[in-house]
Amino acid sequence: MKPNHDPENVEQRMDQMISKLREHEFRITPQRLAVLRVLAISKDHPSVEGIYEEVRKGFPTTSIATIYKTVNLLRNIDEVLEIAFPDGSNRYDGNNPFPHPHIICVRCKRIVHPDMESLESIMNNAAKKTGFEILSHRLDIFGVCNDCRATKTNINS
Ligand SMILES: [Zn+2]
Ligand SMILES: [Zn+2]
Repeated sequence: MKPNHDPENVEQRMDQMISKLREHEFRITPQRLAVLRVLAISKDHPSVEGIYEEVRKGFPTTSIATIYKTVNLLRNIDEVLEIAFPDGSNRYDGNNPFPHPHIICVRCKRIVHPDMESLESIMNNAAKKTGFEILSHRLDIFGVCNDCRATKTNINS
């Protein structure tokens, strides 16, 4: 599956998440709906803090704990992909809840989807060579994005 970011799919994506939550008999509260919407709309792999900022615009009394809980819930039912980092600054992809590669800017933390046509053959090769059944994968590529490269920053200062 290839990651996609078609804004026309926002409602459809929300419906998918809602029916999956219902399947697991989780309640759909207005705050949870707001979290789903932010995840479905976001193109930039938001953090929990980022989701919190957005949800708070409509629900000022929302606590960050509620956001954590909802995101964890969605992660546990495979409706959101977590891009975990050792420092805990995890980011989330609610549009593409399946393993896919990311390229991450080390300066501004922007995360985009590289076009990786060859990934499938890499996986097939890995399976063939090791005899493993591949269940999942994680590929993070780190670099400096175009915008950051254009900003003249003195790395010594
Ligand atoms: Zn992604
Ligand atoms: Zn950058």
